[in-house]
Amino acid sequence: MTSPDIDWNLLRERARASAAKAYAPYSHVTVGAAALASTGAIVEGSNIENASYGLTLCAECSLVSDLTRSGGGRLVAVAVVAGDGEPIAPCGRCRQVLYEHGGPNVLIDGGEGQSPITLSELLPLAFGPDDLGTRSNA
Ligand SMILES: [Zn+2]
Repeated sequence: MTSPDIDWNLLRERARASAAKAYAPYSHVTVGAAALASTGAIVEGSNIENASYGLTLCAECSLVSDLTRSGGGRLVAVAVVAGDGEPIAPCGRCRQVLYEHGGPNVLIDGGEGQSPITLSELLPLAFGPDDLGTRSNA
């Protein structure tokens, strides 16, 4: 699926709506994410903070949960926005989570008027599921 086939405005809109549903009483930084899956489904997530801070779930984590819960498939295109409605970059952990469920060619929204970038640009030389088999001593 090429970039022009992706309705980035719809993904941004759904991500903004998801940001409004975030649970962020500590940082007050709400984040929403929406993605197009290979099944054609749109999946969403929002950040869910925790008083322990370290257990906070990013919007991308709940997005992947929604992907799995709603039937699976692979991620094709992902938009992540903060509560101000503007794009925000996935954190390092989430880049790895997105890689697991979409691989290096997942498109990440660059913002309105900007070209999307691939996950391999955000996470070069990624470690992934294929590395487990080839690097195992078993
Ligand atoms: Zn994250």
